[in-house]
Amino acid sequence: MKKTVLEIDLKALEHNFNVISSKLRPKTKFMAVVKANGYGSNDIEIAKKLESLSIDYFAVAFSSEGVSLRKAGIETPILVLLPQVESFTEIIKYKLEPSLYSFYFLDNFLNFLVSKKIEKYPCHFKINSGLNRVGFNEEESQKAMAKIQNCECIELMSLYSHLAATDDLQESKFTLSQINLFKKISSNLISKLSDKPMLHMSNTSGIFNFPECEFDMVRSGIGLYGYNNHLNNELVPVHTLKSIISQIVEAQKGDSIGYNRAFICEEKMKIGIIPLGHADGISRGFSKNAYVIVNGKKCRIIGNICMDVFMVNLNDIDVVEGDQVVIFDKQNNAESFALSVGTISYEILTNLSERIERVIV
Ligand SMILES: *Cc1c(COP(=O)(O)O)cnc(C)c1O
Repeated sequence: MKKTVLEIDLKALEHNFNVISSKLRPKTKFMAVVKANGYGSNDIEIAKKLESLSIDYFAVAFSSEGVSLRKAGIETPILVLLPQVESFTEIIKYKLEPSLYSFYFLDNFLNFLVSKKIEKYPCHFKINSGLNRVGFNEEESQKAMAKIQNCECIELMSLYSHLAATDDLQESKFTLSQINLFKKISSNLISKLSDKPMLHMSNTSGIFNFPECEFDMVRSGIGLYGYNNHLNNELVPVHTLKSIISQIVEAQKGDSIGYNRAFICEEKMKIGIIPLGHADGISRGFSKNAYVIVNGKKCRIIGNICMDVFMVNLNDIDVVEGDQVVIFDKQNNAESFALSVGTISYEILTNLSERIERVIV
């Protein structure tokens, strides 16, 4: 295609699903994390494909993401990791399962359920075991659970927690202490419950690096899209971002390229104009060190990245206007593109704007 497209490879998704599943005990359930439009891909197509592969659960960050999956016909249970108090009505209407993670959310949700006379609504209970982001710590868990048990309006589907550093083996002592704390808090809570909630803790790098945190279910996001923080060569990247050379500009020694004259030509140069910019998620940080692939060769990004275009050095490249440019694909993947400016694949993928057409392959 003679324009910028993001290709989404559902075969690669299936491959990654199988690779990750093969690491798990047969009984362990698989929750696919499809927040942020399926890590910048296309959450609906990803969810449909995974539903056809008998995925057990989905997770999204906000209830609006769950609503759009339901409207697209997804029937698998959906955990909403960070529901907000504005969304109670849609949570119920679309049978989404909220995470209970703060007293503010819990108290308001309990009041809402009581006022609507709703009983045994499926929810998940978030324990803070050391990430110190969202969730109840050990002491708060007791208090929160007492409130939940006080009314009949909630059925606890799971108790879960999130690990801080599963991709960093230098921090394995810390990770093991998080796992132990989660075990302690959860068994304490469960001993007082009549429900038998599932336990889950592991994200993608936890699945690969810490089998001891598998519990009853795992939550995998980035791994399904082909990355394990650092690239894992068993997995295949799902996203390919391509564009074209929409113009070739001849510049002379001493000419400046782009805004703020950030690049000055030290020789006669052939400059390629690529219709993709910071409004599309290619942040200005990429002005420094990044390169793209044109006809199999690396070309440095030069000058400041603009809103809708960026420029590359095409000296010594055999190329004409209309030729294809690969920003990242399976070989030159989003993780190495991300590393060239000191970020991670998660950020690159989820920053890709809606303006870029998604093509399912
Ligand atoms: C985003 C998220 C995940 C997925 O993590 P990956 O590293 O992408 O596998 C799992 N659990 C929670 C709570 C999350 O917010």
